[in-house]
Amino acid sequence: MLNILVIDDNMADVRITHEMLKEGLGTQFTFSHASCVGEARTYLEDQSFDMILLDLNLPDSMALDTLRELRQTHASAATLIMSGLQDEALAIQAVRNGAQDYLIKDHINSHALSRAIRYAVERHRVQEQVTHQAHYDHLTGLANRGLFYERLHYALARCHRNDAAIALLFLDLDHFKAINDTFGHEYGDIVLKTVANRLRKCIREVDTGVRMGGDEFAVLLDEVVSVDDVGTIAQRLLNLITQPMVILDHELHITGSVGMTIYPWDCAKAQDLLKHSDTAMYRAKAQGGNNFQFYTAGMQTSSLDRTTIDVELRRALAKGEFLLHYQPQMDLRTQQIIGMEALIRWQHPYQGMISPMNFIPKAEESGIIVPMGEWVMETASLQAKKWESEGLPIPPISVNLSARQVHQRNLPATIEHILQATQLDPQYLQVELTESFLISETPSTLATLRDLKAMGVKIYIDDFGVGYASLRYLKAFPLDGLKLDQSLIKDLDTDINNAAIVKAILALGNTLGLKVIAEGVETQAQVQFLSEHGCYAIQGFWVTPPIPAHESRHWLIMGESQSYTAA
Ligand code: C2E
Ligand code: MG
Ligand code: MG
Repeated sequence: MLNILVIDDNMADVRITHEMLKEGLGTQFTFSHASCVGEARTYLEDQSFDMILLDLNLPDSMALDTLRELRQTHASAATLIMSGLQDEALAIQAVRNGAQDYLIKDHINSHALSRAIRYAVERHRVQEQVTHQAHYDHLTGLANRGLFYERLHYALARCHRNDAAIALLFLDLDHFKAINDTFGHEYGDIVLKTVANRLRKCIREVDTGVRMGGDEFAVLLDEVVSVDDVGTIAQRLLNLITQPMVILDHELHITGSVGMTIYPWDCAKAQDLLKHSDTAMYRAKAQGGNNFQFYTAGMQTSSLDRTTIDVELRRALAKGEFLLHYQPQMDLRTQQIIGMEALIRWQHPYQGMISPMNFIPKAEESGIIVPMGEWVMETASLQAKKWESEGLPIPPISVNLSARQVHQRNLPATIEHILQATQLDPQYLQVELTESFLISETPSTLATLRDLKAMGVKIYIDDFGVGYASLRYLKAFPLDGLKLDQSLIKDLDTDINNAAIVKAILALGNTLGLKVIAEGVETQAQVQFLSEHGCYAIQGFWVTPPIPAHESRHWLIMGESQSYTAA
């Protein structure tokens, strides 16, 4: 059924057209008629038409203006121009302005008209498809960057005309790279589509939802009246995104960071709208993600104050330049793999692989260790789930926690969220409290550690025997075990003092019911010594150096069945 609207002020012509349509199309059409553009507008507002037959000489409008207006506002209908012989040149202009074809009234019959209509509808459909492909992101169906700039241009023009405001929300998903890396691109694509659908749900018809590229989305809000409204939309967006997604049997909890700028309220130059929203989004990320930030002028200055490494680390985190290697921990008696320590690496675009020793201290100083540590925890948990889904036996995954993280009172909530999001059972998570600076024994850290313990997460003290870690910790903290610092293991065979300390710590651990894992074990002699003195497990080059996730599979399988003779 074709819905046809005829816009023509000559009633005789209208009647003829109607007769021809009946003859050519039978009952396959509906017929509406308007005698001027004003009347046509009322029709178009509440009905949708497949076809507009437009007479170029109307009482209330100039021909080409009429056409341009119709193309802008009612682009879904194909347009055929019905012109008199005398205005053929104008008719050609009309086709250049978006009409599908033109017909000279005196030359048509019912057959030619219905044929022209069918062609015009078809041609229009193809044209629509092509423009759609050029303007919309093919994965999510949201507007693409190109259409975004176009809409922004019009929005700014309206904004100046009406003295109104517009807002730009810039959304970047948190840790999306980890999901992509772990589950693959196809899986990542489904996540992006789901996010896009949710984004669509929280904006109005007049607003534009955009996929800027990768895991970056934007929303252009038209006719903004108050800052609160914008905040509400951002919050609604974050709430919707955080709803669990079940994709291919995995339950996933995504979060995002949103940066926002309102023009002209907090941005004087329209061309800064995107840049400022991006800056604000990075601020939201730096706050740990899953929140929104309005751009403020202060953000620019404070970002200039940051040292280069700090900026570099944030950039690297956002760009997904970090990755994890894993090092197995082996039970000395059974030779089973009882843990895998996740160790962060920085794959720098120019400098190659950078050791954590060179950036963890900086990250701790600046506080970026907090979002970085969350990324590590999430990536390691996703990896464990991935191994599990591949049918591999998984041991607990050991994740290093800096004192800075432990001092965050919301650490248990964060970890719980990650475990829920990744569906990893807490018993498969083990944390190592690294001793870069003293973990204060305040009631709040104690509460944090007790919460973790209560969740079922295992707690180890890292680098025990040197540095700050004191015997007091053993009493105060709810621990599962200790990791003997590698400097003590290093000279085990030659330094009798070290040997005595190691023996004493092993005895102490056994008395207190703490498991002791020796780190940096490189030689057979060290293995011998440690197993003779009741050490629970070893980790070190003697077993294997830290390795990428895909090479770890071997250890997960072998760890169960193969024996390593410690003799
Ligand atoms: P760590 O937790 O004590 O990790 C053990 C370090 O010893 C790793 O260095 C590992 O590669 C190295 N290692 C393992 N076996 C041997 C061995 O047999 N001989 C020798 N010489 N070294 C061995 P890596 O990966 O360079 O990590 C250094 C430190 O950086 C870690 O010490 C940990 O304190 C910190 N770190 C690594 N990843 C993270 C992380 O995700 N978060 C935090 N907060 N710290 C991390
Ligand atoms: Mg460690
Ligand atoms: Mg250590």
